[in-house]
Formats: sequence, C-alpha cells, structure tokens
Amino acid sequence: MRSAVLAACAAAALLTGCGTTSAKVEAERPVPLVTVSRDGERWTADFTLPSDSPTWVFLRSALARESGKPWREGQWAVETPGVVLERRGHFDILRTTDGGPVPRNIRIRMTPKAEDLNADYDPALIFTDGSAALYAGHFTLFPIASPEAAEALPMDLNDVEIESDNSRITWRDAAGPVLFEGERQAAPVSERSNVYVLFGRADLVDSPRLATVIDPGLPVWLGDEIKTFSPRIAAYYAERLGPGQTDKPTIMVSWNGPTPQLRSMGGSVLPGLIIMAFEGDNVVTESTEMRDHARWFIGHESAHFWLGQTIRYEFSREAWITEGGADLMAMRAQAVLSPTYDVMTALQEEVDDCTTLAVKPVASANQRSEHRAYYACGAVFGLAAEAAQRRATGGDWFDFLKGLIERNREDGKVNREEWLAALLQLTGDPDVRREIDTLLDEGAPDPAVLIARLFDRTGVAYRMEGGKVKLV
Ligand SMILES: [Zn+2]
Repeated sequence: MRSAVLAACAAAALLTGCGTTSAKVEAERPVPLVTVSRDGERWTADFTLPSDSPTWVFLRSALARESGKPWREGQWAVETPGVVLERRGHFDILRTTDGGPVPRNIRIRMTPKAEDLNADYDPALIFTDGSAALYAGHFTLFPIASPEAAEALPMDLNDVEIESDNSRITWRDAAGPVLFEGERQAAPVSERSNVYVLFGRADLVDSPRLATVIDPGLPVWLGDEIKTFSPRIAAYYAERLGPGQTDKPTIMVSWNGPTPQLRSMGGSVLPGLIIMAFEGDNVVTESTEMRDHARWFIGHESAHFWLGQTIRYEFSREAWITEGGADLMAMRAQAVLSPTYDVMTALQEEVDDCTTLAVKPVASANQRSEHRAYYACGAVFGLAAEAAQRRATGGDWFDFLKGLIERNREDGKVNREEWLAALLQLTGDPDVRREIDTLLDEGAPDPAVLIARLFDRTGVAYRMEGGKVKLV
C-alpha cells in the first residue's frame, strides 16, 4: 500500500480546536470582510481589509500532510496586481512587491482540491458530483508590521496578541443556494470560523439521531456503516460519559476515488459536525478488516464530541490528551460493540508507534510534523490511566474520562496538569507522572524502558520481548 496508510488514517484525523484559534485578540477591531463565490468552474475570494498594513497573515497556515508544503500555493492565486502570496516561517502571508500597504481590496482565484492538512481542517471537501464544502477558518487573516515579523511568529499563537481571529464571510453560488448550518440559503454570512459551507447539489439526509451529506460516489457499504454505526457508538459514549457536545451530529462524507493500492480515511470534528474523506481501492469492497477499521475511524471522530468538544485542550502541544484519548475510546467501545474486533493488535500498534516516535519530545511533535506521536503516546498514557483506574475502583478508561469530563465540563477545557492530577489521585504515587513528563518534554533514547516503567507503576499487563513492550 502507498505510504503508511494505516497510520495515516490516524495521523490524518485532524486535531479538534487547534491552538491557533485561541490567540489573544484585541477587542472591538473591525474584521476583514470576504465574499467567497462560485460561478460555474470559477471560484473567487474577494477580501476587503479593514486597515492599511504592509503584511497580512493567514491565521491557519498548516502544511499539507502528504506534500509537507503550504496548500495555498497549489489552490490560491492572487489576481490583484502587485500582491504576493508566500510562505514566511509557519505562515502564509500577503504582501506587496513594492513594500507598501496591501490594497484594501484583494481578489484571489481558487481551485479547491481535496487535500489533507497536518492538524487542521481540510480547506475543501470535494464530492464526485461536483459539490464542494469549503472551510471558513482558512479565510481568516490579521495584519502584522512586516514579512520578517510574520517569519518570527511561533507556530502556536496562544501567547501572541493579534488584531483579529475571524472574518465575516458571505457565501454565494451562481448555481443556487448553498448549504449553511443545515439550511439552504442564497447568500448566508458566517461570523465564526469553524463551519463548512456546501456548494452544489449534494443532499442533506435527515434521520432522528443523525443527519448525513454523503457523496453519491462513496462505496455503498461505507455509507451504510456510517449511518448505522455512528449512532450506536455515540449512544455507548453517552451512556458511559454523559452528554457530549451534540446529540445529533451531521456527518459530511466525500469520496476521492478508488486510487490504486490506497486506503485513506481522513476526518475532523467541528461543533455538531464530522467531516470525513475516504479514498482508495482498498476501501471499495467490504471485508471484516475494512469494516473494523472504518468503525474504529468513525469511533475516533465521534469521540471528539466528548474529548475535544465537551472538553478541549488549551495548547496544541497537549493534543495527546484528545487524540490518544479518542483513539482509546474508539478501541474500547468497538471491542464492546463489535465482538470480532482485534483490540489487542490495535493497542499494540499504539505502543509500537509511541516507542518509535518518543525518541524526541512528544509535546513538540507538531513542530516536526510528527502528529502521529500524539495519537500513539496519548493512547499509551491512556492505557496507564485505565490500569490505574482498574486498580483503584475496578473501573476502565471511560470511568477515568468521566471524572475528567465532569470536573472540567464547566470551563470546557482540560490541560496536562489536570490530566496528570487525575492520575495521581488514583495511584497516590507522586512519581506516577515522571515517565510521562520525560516522554512529553525530552523524549528518551529508548522509550520502551520508560513505557515499561510507567506500565509497572500503574499495572498495565505486558512483557518485554527483544527490548520491546508487548501488551498481554
Ligand atoms: Zn482526532
């Protein structure tokens, strides 16, 4: 199979609520206005900027996962003379060739493509019938003094003061109304960044516990699996954890075609909405393996309505809490709901991947585009918490999470200290966090040694085999 597709499914599943969105914003500033339009094949974004500035920075500038390059280069072209779109440091920027202020009115021509990003929402979901859903957040930009100042910005803008983290966008399609927040509207205006707007005829199908927009080209069995398994696993999560962010999600699913020797499942979660993109000849035909894998994927994305939406992390370096946590939720729930599911193999893969990746600090994995470390090591830490919970109360991973969610439901956030405090509370062992801290902040020459020690402290059953940690 092409690339590391199995791992890519997890790594492609985007983080929910990236750190960039919570940058400090100066109050009461006018925001950029944008009109996104489609007229036949021609897509444009017309920006009206609220002030004069020599440089504007796109707040969301994640790299494309497969190419490792800025995605705007291949999808956006500036039509306004004298204005350049380019990469500086961690961000895409607009500047003028003469160094003067960027004109207040900018036109960008777009060719939306299905492209997965590292730890951010896909810019576009492309359907085989020509429909396309665009993500609003990628039209957000803020002014900065110079391209050099943009270059010096840290990847995570949490501690940086910026002028705006939002744009007001009008959405228009010459072919007819667009689908916005569950309704067909002629020219809706979005005020928040975390929405997708659908252009084209793809239909919203409503059922009591789920609404779906499914690409007509998607293999039928996958569509059926999404429609039947999503409500089942969501019901299990609700039973174990209490209410999540929504009790009736919308799932939008696109099909990128039967690319040979590929199995690709990518997804992300927004309030009330799951976005999924499937691709590859390996998912065309149903098999036990494929079905189990699709269910795990549905379970991971659905888990974010609890871990990611009901409570979310504050800094992107803490993505291990939600990504590893959602992986373990999906695996444990699926072991209950699908008795044939091979949970041990799935868990062992997390241990193996964490062992490989934690030679470098897990917390800063996003700086190296090694997002898989958050999933794998987050799940390993989850296994430790689960074992500690079992020892202390006879409970499981969901019991650990339930406490964590209840304690943080009000402020909607969870951070590393809170997560580790919950673990300490169960074990009473002040050293219980030592290996986790080391793996997060430093990494280790041989992570297996630390993982084994963490498992010893908490009671995860394993044996050492050729220097490797094997779950038993
Ligand atoms: Zn995820």
